[in-house]
Amino acid sequence: MPNPSPSRYEGFDRLFIDGHWLTGQQAPREDRSPWTGEPLLHVAQAGTDDLDRAYSAAKAAQQDWAAQGPSQRAAVFATVARIMERRRDEIIDWLVSESGSTRLKASLEWQTVRAVMLEASALPYLVEGRILPNDTPGMESRVYREPVGVVGVISPWNWPLQLAARSIAPAMAVGNAVVLKPASDTPVTGGLLFAKLFEEAGLPAGVLNVIPGAGSVIGDAFVSHPVPRVIAFTGSTPVGRRIARLAAESPILKRTDLELGGNSPLVVLGDADLEQAVEAAVFGKFLHQGQICMITNRLIVEAPVHDAFIERYVERVRQLKVGGRDDPATFIGPIINDSQLRSVTDLIAQARAEGARELLGGEPDGLVLPPHVFADVSEDSVLARQEIFGPVAPIMRARDAEDALRIANATEYGLSAAVFTRDLERGVRFARRFESGMCHVNDQPVNDQIFNPFGGEKNSGIGRFNGRWAVDAFTTDQWVTVQHTPRRYPFDAALLAPKTDPSVGG
Ligand code: NAD
Repeated sequence: MPNPSPSRYEGFDRLFIDGHWLTGQQAPREDRSPWTGEPLLHVAQAGTDDLDRAYSAAKAAQQDWAAQGPSQRAAVFATVARIMERRRDEIIDWLVSESGSTRLKASLEWQTVRAVMLEASALPYLVEGRILPNDTPGMESRVYREPVGVVGVISPWNWPLQLAARSIAPAMAVGNAVVLKPASDTPVTGGLLFAKLFEEAGLPAGVLNVIPGAGSVIGDAFVSHPVPRVIAFTGSTPVGRRIARLAAESPILKRTDLELGGNSPLVVLGDADLEQAVEAAVFGKFLHQGQICMITNRLIVEAPVHDAFIERYVERVRQLKVGGRDDPATFIGPIINDSQLRSVTDLIAQARAEGARELLGGEPDGLVLPPHVFADVSEDSVLARQEIFGPVAPIMRARDAEDALRIANATEYGLSAAVFTRDLERGVRFARRFESGMCHVNDQPVNDQIFNPFGGEKNSGIGRFNGRWAVDAFTTDQWVTVQHTPRRYPFDAALLAPKTDPSVGG
């Protein structure tokens, strides 16, 4: 029997432009594993000429791609899902070594991205036009829905495969071509892996181009370039603001989809099932060491159950397995890099100085920071105001449910939120008052499901991903009218006089 498993992917050290693997204009950058600091490879870095080449290739390829039938486009994504199944171990290994994922998180991410590919194989069929009512005699009013053309995608390092996939897959599925710029810490898992997967699946050259490169070198040009019609950005709020400004000021206006930072609350009301709330609050705080946009940033607990919750919470957090790259039971792995670790340890030092009560802590081992729990965190504490992006759980006490809701909404962000109560409809009423794009009753804030709208309010962004929302994000409407009979133009104001008196009806 021939061996059905493919040879391992190699050659991630290049840019992928117009179907070719190329060296970049800038000096290659070392890609390191956060687990050990060992160099994995040196990756080519794009300059502005490479960027220009990538956008030109996308523009040249887009119309033929859009002209393919929906089933032809759908087949590519179904094939990618199958290749992902064959290459599951290889993809998970890359996520573990490059992005500092635990085996658990890498497996979850692989599963989500496979689902995104299957969803994308359905999206070409959701691009629909409309015939609309029209008041002009003899006029037929049509709306054609079409791809925007070229989409520029910028993705972050924390959940790199998924956060690139959820933009590039729907954008291409509905007939666009894409240029993807992954984050500097995850050039393979945030970008070049897709180049390999789609190349193997037979995607035509130029439809997907992947150009690792520093935001400081190609970031502004990536956004201001005249070719892309939409920039889909996932990352921090300050960079998102800059991108919105650049898009508004670029020679040709373009849309931006912004999926930005968060400060998500998890509220435990007095009638909650504490055991469930504790399980959820541990998972939804410490998954991927807290480096998730919609992670629980603040635990807000109603006074009657506050002390009991804290006691059980600390006990449960103590049981988490910390460190151990290849242990499937490891829950806490490394922070992505030194500067991110420093930003988290600075927040911890400030919280101590502010007088927050540290119930659990410890020193980093390399980039692995053990879980921290703080109680008596005040509303003006740095831990309550800032996105932590690390394994640090601040617990806040609320007087009652109204106080909990007030604290929950007292943030510039509005990405995800959660509430625990045994009364489900009370939970829904509570959730409806969160100033947040996504709310979960009796669950924690980290949720993302294909065909469900993902996105934030306030400084967490503008726009929604997934399903029909992604179709809207990556298509545009064109209104076309057809005048079937000669039209009588109103040269005389008398022609516009109402024929009936609306006040008496008929
Ligand atoms: P970041 O904003 O520093 O970087 C994100 C991407 O933007 C990277 O690819 C980076 O190279 C690029 N970039 C940086 N400067 C740029 C510039 N001037 N022009 C164009 N591109 C530029 O964010 P990060 O540190 O990679 O990710 C963490 C942040 O992302 C957190 O705030 C997190 O909450 C947020 N995030 C949000 C979501 C969401 O869905 N809302 C998901 C994941 C992460």
